[in-house]
Amino acid sequence: MTSEELFYSKKPAFDRVDFDQASDYAEGYKAFLDIGKTEREAVTAMVNLARNAGFSPYQRGMALQPGDRIYRVNREKGIALAVIGQKSLAEGIRLTAAHLDAPRIDIRTVPLYEQENMAYFKTHYYGGIKKYQWTTIPLELRGTVCVCRDGKMVKLRISIGAAPDDPKFVITDLLPHLASKQMQEKMADGIKAENMNILIGTKPSDSEKGCKDKVKLAVMEYLNHKYGMTEADFLSAELSCVPAFDACDIGFDRTMVGAYGHDDRVCSYPAATALFALQDVPENTAVCLLVDKEEIGSEGVTGMQSRFFDTFMADLCRTQDVYPEICYENSICLSTDVCNAYDPNYADVSESRNDARMGCGFAIMKYSGSRGKSGTSDASAEVMARVRLILDGANVAWQTAQLGRVDQGGGGTVAMYLANRNIDTVDAGVPVLSMHAPFEVISKIDLYSAYLGIQAFYQA
Ligand code: MN
Ligand code: MN
Repeated sequence: MTSEELFYSKKPAFDRVDFDQASDYAEGYKAFLDIGKTEREAVTAMVNLARNAGFSPYQRGMALQPGDRIYRVNREKGIALAVIGQKSLAEGIRLTAAHLDAPRIDIRTVPLYEQENMAYFKTHYYGGIKKYQWTTIPLELRGTVCVCRDGKMVKLRISIGAAPDDPKFVITDLLPHLASKQMQEKMADGIKAENMNILIGTKPSDSEKGCKDKVKLAVMEYLNHKYGMTEADFLSAELSCVPAFDACDIGFDRTMVGAYGHDDRVCSYPAATALFALQDVPENTAVCLLVDKEEIGSEGVTGMQSRFFDTFMADLCRTQDVYPEICYENSICLSTDVCNAYDPNYADVSESRNDARMGCGFAIMKYSGSRGKSGTSDASAEVMARVRLILDGANVAWQTAQLGRVDQGGGGTVAMYLANRNIDTVDAGVPVLSMHAPFEVISKIDLYSAYLGIQAFYQA
């Protein structure tokens, strides 16, 4: 055998992937990113895509036939989609699991105040961010407010900043001329969370002479006029500031996409659209699960640790008189989440043989975690071989991945929560540059390879 046959090598996949097709596919993904900047919006966008692909909502007790295309939404923040296969659920499902939440700046429950004739929202950041990256960039306000009036709840969706004429919002930072002390701080301390206040207005209201917070009053008058809100309604609101820029191509060659929220919509989108694209009825039931709250530990009713998924699967299994435990035991899952792309500017935190590289394909990760593999499910040799054979059998460009050098840091995914349910699980996803920044970068080759790889997986 030659060295090429004997050695494993990671190389750009431009010779194996049709770049025009990858580019076309990325256009749909970019549109999805721009509409779905919060998990609720992403779920709404996903439901629309699913309906167009012939999926319908599944109610408990409905009979199921092979080929049925169904979905169930979890509290507007998560969704499970399935194509019922020819075989019994007792023979297991082909499951993908990704998350729709992304790091952002949440608005607090008593957010509004005025200082020196300027009105602000207090915030609380969501997920692991480098705080300095979120100052001095245009932000949009998106979310849901449940206004309580006369004993009734009125649910409002808010999106300000996305339309071309919309105003935007910002967290200010210090001018360099006066920042000599700030610049001596550690990067983690340069911007304090309590200073990450969103600037929202400066015009005083003239409707009440005695009121000492006239700018705050003007903001409340605006919100009351437009949405019927009083200040107490912030308590029953989920408002977030997200970056106000849309997804765009990066590079002279347009091989990359820059956007907010690639982590983990860059895996959610191919996991769902590969399911939509299934033409023939798969042998095993194919399920795509998109969850919330991954960035804060997968907790809560909409996170991966919730029983939503188990309840959905139990409902499906009941139609075939199958125990969900037996279905799980015979299932296999791709936990589709992003990994770090090797960045030559920060080479000392990566390990070049094992970390994923931009443009080298769908990234398969045996384990994530930190220190001595803490916080990972660490897939077995047998399961890794199974995934390799599926991808090679379908001629998918894939590569190995890990989360940086050992003891450099690390992180986890939803993989362990699925593996804990007795489902064989492998991490796989798309490499990302500047992960968790307001503007992250991915390769179209990797995105499209993920799509092709996941499609092969559903059909295997
Ligand atoms: Mn992620
Ligand atoms: Mn993340």
